[in-house]
Amino acid sequence: MKAKVEQDYVQINELEWQPFPEAFSKGGINWKLLHTSPEMGAWTAIFDCPKGSSFDSHIHVGPGEYLLIKGKMEVRGGDGEGGATALELGYGYESCGARHDQTYFPIDSQFYMTFLGPLQFINEDSSPRAVVGWEQAQGLWDSQTG
Ligand code: ZN
Repeated sequence: MKAKVEQDYVQINELEWQPFPEAFSKGGINWKLLHTSPEMGAWTAIFDCPKGSSFDSHIHVGPGEYLLIKGKMEVRGGDGEGGATALELGYGYESCGARHDQTYFPIDSQFYMTFLGPLQFINEDSSPRAVVGWEQAQGLWDSQTG
């Protein structure tokens, strides 16, 4: 059992970027896992998304909050298609069950996000592909940095 974390601090610039799996993204997205919270089922990460990169279709099983710290992020198709276009410096909230068919970065971008629950990656026909929750995120990060 993971011991309760009383506090945590991460010097983000001292962590090496790691590749976010191509199974779930396109275009060379990198990430740094900052924190996991088993008691909340939450996980927090920062993502570096080069121009033209995107995340594959997924559903937020729990809500999430993000801070776009650099660039531009088109969520749910962006403003032009009823979604949101985040510009630096932008904050956003995505509700439980939010479906994101493509999250696209038209320019070099970075964002920080806390996920209160897993991401369910889905196929075009909505069938499940994979679940990424705090355990999978922690396992991936440990395998990349261990
Ligand atoms: Zn999303």
